[in-house]
Amino acid sequence: MRTRPFGPNSRPVPVIGQGTWLLETAPERDAIGALHAGFEAGMTHVDTAEYYGDGAAESLVGRAIEAWGRREELFIVSKVLPDHASRRGTVEACERSLERLRIEQLDLYLLHWPGDEPLEETIAGFEDLLGAGKILAWGVSNFDADLLRRAVEIGGPGRVACDQVLYHLQERAIEHAVLPACRELGAAMVGYSPFGSGKFPSPGSRGGQVLAELAKARGATPRQIALAFLVREEGTFAIPKAAQPQHARENAAAGAIELGEDEVRRIEEAFPRGAVPRELPVI
Ligand code: NAP
Repeated sequence: MRTRPFGPNSRPVPVIGQGTWLLETAPERDAIGALHAGFEAGMTHVDTAEYYGDGAAESLVGRAIEAWGRREELFIVSKVLPDHASRRGTVEACERSLERLRIEQLDLYLLHWPGDEPLEETIAGFEDLLGAGKILAWGVSNFDADLLRRAVEIGGPGRVACDQVLYHLQERAIEHAVLPACRELGAAMVGYSPFGSGKFPSPGSRGGQVLAELAKARGATPRQIALAFLVREEGTFAIPKAAQPQHARENAAAGAIELGEDEVRRIEEAFPRGAVPRELPVI
């Protein structure tokens, strides 16, 4: 598993992590088995949120962390709901998340999407949490480039660790403005729903055929080629969700693949970036 610097954080983070949206709906044995298989294979970055299953996904991750026993090897990320993101609400939501996760500190805490609370308030809450040692870094999710710039203006340079945004082969809109803004501002870009949230290109489609050809030539799978494409640039990460241990192992192995220029060009042709979107696409 390749690791790389994550925004301003000094500690490198694996390029492929693990999503947990709806993970709590799978049989617990499979869900925890998948997280552990991922940890074993180096996918130590776990993305969760108070929103997922109304806290049930965090509780599941908490049980997985406890059973794993090596908290210090993990990079645990959670998110506050915009409705809770006042200064005080952010602190309280984080405390509830820590309790469900059965840990003392989050490696990263994100605002799940922009909401009605003034961003200044949420960021003040994040800074309170940093001061209290309850989080090690904070960032945002579903922010377009302008909003990301505002977050940096309010928080100060080097404070916004990442923007977590929708990014998969059929939805490359973030490449127009968000990714360049992340690069310019020193924030990591974490791509969510890297398999289109269950809508991965079918083997019969043109794009599916290109992925299959590239995969065959490398002894890899089409999904591994897709993940390798999504993390081809410095500062980029992907967080596929898998509730089956063999899926987690397959996804982790993608973290070792570095695509060549020809491979990248063929994928770009098969899955065009598309026009500049009016609004940032979200799931
Ligand atoms: P996704 O990762 O794009 O796709 C998940 C689907 O792919 C599941 O059906 C999973 O099946 C399947 N899958 C995974 N690995 C596979 C493999 N190797 N072979 C075959 N199938 C495989 O979907 P997602 O959950 O929408 O996105 C990933 C994560 O991003 C979320 O879990 C969440 O943590 C984060 N996210 C964040 C936001 C946000 O607003 N910030 C929004 C959406 C998602 P199994 O489960 O059966 O293994």
